[in-house]
Amino acid sequence: MSLNANGLLRNSRHLLLNDFDEEKISSLVNSKVLIVGVGGLGCPAAQYLAASGISNFRLVDFDKVEESNLPRQILYGPLDVGKYKVEVGKRILKNINPAVNVIAETAKADSENLPYWIEWSDLVLDCTDGFQTKHLLNQLCVRQKIPLIIGSAIQWEGQLFVVHPKESEFACYECIFPISSGAEDASCGAFGVLSTAVGTIGIFQANETIKILTGTRVVKNQLILFDARSLSVQIIKVIKRSGCSVCDFT
Ligand SMILES: [Zn+2]
Repeated sequence: MSLNANGLLRNSRHLLLNDFDEEKISSLVNSKVLIVGVGGLGCPAAQYLAASGISNFRLVDFDKVEESNLPRQILYGPLDVGKYKVEVGKRILKNINPAVNVIAETAKADSENLPYWIEWSDLVLDCTDGFQTKHLLNQLCVRQKIPLIIGSAIQWEGQLFVVHPKESEFACYECIFPISSGAEDASCGAFGVLSTAVGTIGIFQANETIKILTGTRVVKNQLILFDARSLSVQIIKVIKRSGCSVCDFT
């Protein structure tokens, strides 16, 4: 589907970039993005992606807005406390861009519902703070060959990792953080998190989403570590792990 006059005007500054043309922007606009978790990561990611023109979102979160969410979960305001995050998120994203369609899923993501939602999507954002959910998303996205952008943040630090099963020799989340390592969830409710640190990772996720959906560039096999206190980014090269139970099909 090509862009209409409004779409061309809205995307005029993107179209000035050498990497983009009308076909790529049209592909971005018509993409379907699944966002699992609409908290400190999912809010800024969804906000930027809706503003950037993506038309189809599926938001998944079972939580209601709490007062302590407000410093970093920027889709919500004080009047939204007690309401379901996905319902408020749907309304706000429509305000940002009336052309978007948002499916709101008030549910906990699990092995029953995720395969259907991943099947629906062109790309998945993991915006959860659960180690088990990240591994489940990794397994399913590798199996279903859908790109997955994993974000996490705690205290002053954040991480970003892209799993791109359509690329050759891609590394997956299991390659670098084996589930057998027994790592446990580090929730911001227990350890705290700087609002702008988690927000930066959410915007990094939106950044990589735009690049993948426009076919611009894929940052694969790199673990990105962000430290908000020193304002530094460290890039760790990783490789596909031979014998990985998730992605090594040989
Ligand atoms: Zn792997």
